Amino acid sequence: MKRLIFIAILFFLAISCEGVKQEEVKPMRIRKPAAIGFYPGGKEACEEMVRGLLSGAKKVVNKKPKILIVPHAGYIYSGKAQAEAFKQIEGEDYDTAIILGVPHHWPASSISLSDAYEIPLGTLSVDKEKAEKIAKACELSEITEADAPEHSIEVQLPFLKVLFQDIKIVPILVGRVDMDEFAGLASAIKAVMDDKTIVIVSTDLSHYPEYESANKVDRETISFLLNLDEIGLVQREMDVYSSKIPGLSTYLCGLSPTIVGLKVAKLTRARPKTLIYYNSGDTPYGKRDGVVGYASLAFTKEGLTNEEKEELLKMAKDTVELFVKEGKVPEVSPKSMRLTEPSGVFVTLEKDGNLRGCIGYIWPIKPLYQAVMENAINAAVKDYRFPPVTSSELSDIKIEISVLSEPEKVGTWTDIVLGRDGIVLNVAGRQSVFLPQVAPEQGWTLPETLMYLSIKAGLDKDAYKRKDAVFEVFQAEVFSKE
Ligand SMILES: [Zn+2]
Repeated sequence: MKRLIFIAILFFLAISCEGVKQEEVKPMRIRKPAAIGFYPGGKEACEEMVRGLLSGAKKVVNKKPKILIVPHAGYIYSGKAQAEAFKQIEGEDYDTAIILGVPHHWPASSISLSDAYEIPLGTLSVDKEKAEKIAKACELSEITEADAPEHSIEVQLPFLKVLFQDIKIVPILVGRVDMDEFAGLASAIKAVMDDKTIVIVSTDLSHYPEYESANKVDRETISFLLNLDEIGLVQREMDVYSSKIPGLSTYLCGLSPTIVGLKVAKLTRARPKTLIYYNSGDTPYGKRDGVVGYASLAFTKEGLTNEEKEELLKMAKDTVELFVKEGKVPEVSPKSMRLTEPSGVFVTLEKDGNLRGCIGYIWPIKPLYQAVMENAINAAVKDYRFPPVTSSELSDIKIEISVLSEPEKVGTWTDIVLGRDGIVLNVAGRQSVFLPQVAPEQGWTLPETLMYLSIKAGLDKDAYKRKDAVFEVFQAEVFSKE
């Protein structure tokens, strides 16, 4: 059978240098609903059902989610689990939802470049700018045969529309490609994410084992999700036919979008929490001899545990001591996996309440524990503002560690929040950085902080006001031990 792939290419409207718009009027391309029946087709009935499901759900996370894993069956089956997921983002400020669905009707990946998606509650505009950036970065195109009949994205839209009237969407169907492509898609998604972006992974769990087996295998799947172990998920899915579990045709129908979601979680340092699990056999409509599993998870940006902070402080202390005394670096293997994930970090040394050295990496270029050890040495002996720390000083040195979130661009310097944000200034080919704690410690206002940041970059005090000045901000978890 000959398969035609329709690729929609969008052209930006040209604006001439006289400022006269030369518009080519194109009709809006609106993706029509295909999954009515999974949810009510009437406007009022649909809204009533979604609101009813949400009112029965409970908000349990206390940080703003970055990623949700949500099932995609008919609302009478999975609506309760969907509501538990969407409840976690209720009342938060989001402007874009990147939705990773499963192409049940076509094997390849597809990204929607249409203008909007229609549902009974109205339309949701596609964020074309973000969609095109991702499409370009991953060489993804739109495959209408994959998207037109697909329900896995559409069934999430009524919840989004009820919660956020004007939210834009980036619908992506993730097909069976390879791990490199999943990694590429995850980093392209990360590149367009900001504080107002939610990533929604649409997947159901096991299909058609009997009730007890579903409970068992789905709980195993959830533990892979909680461990961000996408390799484990892939290996197990490859063994599905030799598993000898009667009726089981998949552990996770959305394996591909889930892998991408877990990779985004790692890139954004978001950690999962299980919100709910049940299967169709637990609903009034499902039989127990062949069921489908439904789980919802929310991923939020969580801090380091106290044990992890203590482990890092001990590594920094041991490293400074051994390096200053013997010129050697201790051999360590971190207890917590979290410490092996790349992260930006600064190590600050203080002596008698005065700065004694401070160096770090803004970007996550090394595993966290390694970045701490390297910058502990840098702060002790390579900060050009101070003489190297000597062994007689070691007992008076206090170590502070600042673990950084990845810097994100802000539109103008007025968007910077003093005390919360660390600031990276890039201007005239020069760069300077202040950690979030610097301005409050010095008692500076925002313009004063930016003035000192300009001077720190080796420029005049007003350099931050230049048109080509670019600001990035990050947040830091700061901790220390005497
Ligand atoms: Zn499915």
